[in-house]
Amino acid sequence: MAVKAVKFGGSSLASAEQFKKVAAIIKADPERRYVVASAPGKRDAQDVKVTDMLYACFQAARKKQDIEPIFAKIEQRYNQIISELGLDFSLKEEFEKIKFAISHHVGEDYTASRGEYLNSMVLAEYLGYDFIDAENGIFFKENGTFDADHTNDVLAEILSEHERAVIPGFYGSMPNGTIKTFSRGGSDITGSIVARAADAEVYENWTDVSGMLMADPRIVKNPKVIKVITYSELRELSYMGATVLHDEAIFPVREARIPINIRNTNAPEEEGTMIVPFADKPNEDIITGVAGKVGFSIINIEKSMMNSEVGFGKKILKVIENHDICFEHLPSGIDTMSVVVDTAEIDGIREDVVNEMFRKTKADFINVEDGLALIAVVGRSMVQQVGTAGRVFTAMGKAGVNIKMIDQGSSELSIIIGINEADYAKTLNAIYSEFVKD
Ligand code: ADP
Ligand code: ASP
Ligand code: MG
Repeated sequence: MAVKAVKFGGSSLASAEQFKKVAAIIKADPERRYVVASAPGKRDAQDVKVTDMLYACFQAARKKQDIEPIFAKIEQRYNQIISELGLDFSLKEEFEKIKFAISHHVGEDYTASRGEYLNSMVLAEYLGYDFIDAENGIFFKENGTFDADHTNDVLAEILSEHERAVIPGFYGSMPNGTIKTFSRGGSDITGSIVARAADAEVYENWTDVSGMLMADPRIVKNPKVIKVITYSELRELSYMGATVLHDEAIFPVREARIPINIRNTNAPEEEGTMIVPFADKPNEDIITGVAGKVGFSIINIEKSMMNSEVGFGKKILKVIENHDICFEHLPSGIDTMSVVVDTAEIDGIREDVVNEMFRKTKADFINVEDGLALIAVVGRSMVQQVGTAGRVFTAMGKAGVNIKMIDQGSSELSIIIGINEADYAKTLNAIYSEFVKD
């Protein structure tokens, strides 16, 4: 039988009511055989995610404080779900084991991972599916990076022994057997790994929005859902802050050419977004989406005759490398060159960096400006369409936004624009409404 791998996020599994919706979705299609579950998320804006409560427990234990008050709240979250689902099932022994481990100074990652571990046990029980512990099938290497090949071999073997199963998201194990998590939001990565190991026809990622939206819904009102997006476009948008899917989640499925379908647990009738290797149809709005991030700094370097000085750029990049800084963009002019970096990366060392650049390059002028936001206008159809960049800049001009930097990647998949952080929301709205007419 064909297989669909499905992942449900924290808000999709935050309460018994949500569990019922999830079970109905899974039961509606017999191909939905492998289910990856997150920890219970927020039930409303004021609520606290179980993962955050677990991190708080770890901090309390580290300070030798009593973890009981926080842990009792975690137990209560699960007990309420279990009782409202009418299950004859108890996590009491698991709670005791975990509490004992946390108070005896087990690692932070183990502690955080128990949210998905416990939630997956409850979901497996409710669905009548097997439970597969991710520690037995998802592996990290000694240096902490994900071990894709070993994982795929072992996990494919384990899955073949279970017709239907629930697998906790977010974690796996180190070579010495200790638990390690991915970064926050990492259950999306687990879903992708499971889809690849199961050789699934699709990886369905169920969340609380009806797909990937053309812009962040917290900034642009009612943005349109993107129907089809390529892996490369998604990578540009998610790297730039469109956080509906963890930005590393595409790698396992991309290699296996498995499409991802983002769906809404609260509106399962909607088709959501298909993320595919190649899209045969152009995009009717020309752009696929727009996203952005704040918190960047720009280092501006000026030197007359820079353009004819062999190796100038290399000297600048060497200084950046010496200080272990990753750079985001390198816009350059005839006698100017700029380096855009994450502000957090140069905080505390900016004087050293600038002084070393002066010494190594004999530049005429160097300064650092903070408060830069970067916006990415992304679209596979922009390349065929003359005048797209012009429309972006005209829209920004009309909105009174000053452009500080422009960079177009060689793939012509995106235009990156640097602006003042104060203009961030205004710019996203101006670009969105230039291309999307409703
Ligand atoms: P889950 O708990 O299901 O993993 P997340 O909270 O990680 O869900 O991701 C979904 C959220 O991402 C949405 O509720 C939305 O607020 C936010 N978001 C930010 N940018 C976008 C975008 N371009 N499209 C859709 N959602 C977005
Ligand atoms: N529960 C984890 C987090 O809150 C992982 C996830 O939800 O994907 O980050
Ligand atoms: Mg998420």
